[in-house]
Amino acid sequence: MAVCLPDALEHRIRRHAENCYPNEACGLLTGHRDGELITVTDVHESENVTDADPKTGFEIDPKLRFDLMRALEAAKDGTEIVGHYHSHPDHPAEPSATDLSMTYETDFVWLICSVTEAGTTQLNAFKPREDRSRFEPLELR
Ligand SMILES: [Zn+2]
Repeated sequence: MAVCLPDALEHRIRRHAENCYPNEACGLLTGHRDGELITVTDVHESENVTDADPKTGFEIDPKLRFDLMRALEAAKDGTEIVGHYHSHPDHPAEPSATDLSMTYETDFVWLICSVTEAGTTQLNAFKPREDRSRFEPLELR
């Protein structure tokens, strides 16, 4: 499985990660699935509404997700929520143990962007395994 992320959207994720530093940034990805290819067509920045420390954890605003799902249902153009992104301030762009504990939907794409005070570095794509034992890396185009 591969993920196609247009440059302009990657740029927005990186900018969001930088703006939220040293806290984690997060947001939803909408787009469409075409066999083994997931194409991201839009990025929806969320507030990080976690009850835990926002430097090491994130939670996407449930209202954003609800509103988005309603809008997508109304549009009926095949666009769906295909995944989400979050940043790892001062940590590598690899899923953490906390991330693994949060994998409810196994068909969700996880984009993780590493960010430091100097700016973003790596941006990687993952997908939880069906048994949620770990993440598998996805090709990012
Ligand atoms: Zn994480």
